[in-house]
Amino acid sequence: MSHEPPGGGKRVPHIVIVGGGFGGLWTTRALASADVRITLIDRRNHHLFQPLLYQVATAGLSSPDIAAPLRHILRSQRNVEVRLGEVVGLDAAAREVELADGDRIGYDTLLLASGATHAYFGHDDWAPDAPGLKTLDDALHIRRRLLLAFERAEAAQDEAERAAWLSFAVVGGGPTGVELAGTLAEIARKTLRREFRRIDPAQAKVRLIEAGPRVLSSFPEELSEKARKQLQKLGVEVVTGTPVNAIDEHGYTLGDTVVPARTVVWAAGVAASKLGALLDAPRDRAGRVQVLPDLSVPGHPEIFIAGDLASVQQDGKPVPGVAPAAKQMGAHVARAILDRLKGRPTTPFRYKDYGNLATIGRMAAVVDVHGFKLSGLLAWWFWLAAHVFFLIGFRNRVIVLINWAWAYWSYQRHARIILGDRDD
Ligand SMILES: Cc1cc2nc3c(=O)[nH]c(=O)nc-3n(C[C@H](O)[C@H](O)[C@H](O)COP(=O)(O)OP(=O)(O)OC[C@H]3O[C@@H](n4cnc5c(N)ncnc54)[C@H](O)[C@@H]3O)c2cc1C
Repeated sequence: MSHEPPGGGKRVPHIVIVGGGFGGLWTTRALASADVRITLIDRRNHHLFQPLLYQVATAGLSSPDIAAPLRHILRSQRNVEVRLGEVVGLDAAAREVELADGDRIGYDTLLLASGATHAYFGHDDWAPDAPGLKTLDDALHIRRRLLLAFERAEAAQDEAERAAWLSFAVVGGGPTGVELAGTLAEIARKTLRREFRRIDPAQAKVRLIEAGPRVLSSFPEELSEKARKQLQKLGVEVVTGTPVNAIDEHGYTLGDTVVPARTVVWAAGVAASKLGALLDAPRDRAGRVQVLPDLSVPGHPEIFIAGDLASVQQDGKPVPGVAPAAKQMGAHVARAILDRLKGRPTTPFRYKDYGNLATIGRMAAVVDVHGFKLSGLLAWWFWLAAHVFFLIGFRNRVIVLINWAWAYWSYQRHARIILGDRDD
């Protein structure tokens, strides 16, 4: 049990933060000058910029371009200890979290900011044949499957097999699905041009499937329509209003039609981190914890939730599961902790919505900032500036900009090395 600081020292409040994503990291940094001791626990050693994960999955960026070790990010913040480990248990009465290695860590205040993952709507058996995108491991796995599909098509012995390897489907028409499908179509039509001898990669069929009536449903209808047109211009077939009914290693079923396809990527559905279930608190359908206005857990003023694990209603609508919301919640939790330490009442959290952006492919995007709508090239520049600006670490920003400048002029994607020797 590690209640005490390493090497002794005076007893100051111990804040345990689970998750070094946008929520947890923003709380940690906002407490930099507070007289507290922080233990930041994450099962991965890095903070990940998830909005650019699809670029790793589509070979445009490499892992270190969009991730940085938490120890490095927090190296100058003396009141933090970073612990690599997976939290598997919580004893709220004893105020301890339990790690997978059996260690127990006591807290005075706990923040759970362990995020969310993708969900298969009760069809977890689809996962091996339709991988989702949440972590760097997922992105590298998808990258490998996409690149291998073209290699398998080149080596295919008959036309049906070749067509199945050149048939790609992305399930889910939210921002991630749109980004993946648009970029995949560009890879097939531009990046791989002239590299194969037996197949024409441009003949690949890229389908984006959305069960709802339109893609990018969180955007105004006219931007959804513009996104659909931009996708079609890139060569993506957009299917809306039809759910996928089955997925296996041979393909997927759309309505009543069985479609042979060897590469299906899952970009639909969200399920909150399992840690929410360790609390005796109400949760919504996705498993998010319904928190009090100050983001604390009902009945547990010493436990807070931030980011994708928190279910927060504002003006009758749910606060979206996006990075700016997680950062704002993280900063709010830090303020609430400081308020408590000073004996002041906490204040309610209010989400400031700075707008909604999604990219579709090279030079194509949609932007909605409080009713100010942009699409096409101008929107893409806006999207690029915002994403590069928010990347943590100067090195990543410079490298990402250089990679993008190169990709812009050459259509090349520099991270096309297939790793691993498993037969996917
Ligand atoms: C592919 C993809 C694209 C996205 N694109 C955008 C976008 O363009 N714009 C946007 O605003 N948002 C985007 N989002 C959403 C955004 O990334 C999330 O809203 C945000 O990351 C939520 O922050 P968080 O701190 O709650 O969780 P996360 O950032 O997911 O961080 C959770 C952390 O908790 C750790 N963790 C989880 N469980 C445990 C455990 N048991 N023990 C220890 N550690 C644990 C994880 O390793 C992780 O580091 C995207 C998300 C994905 C997956």
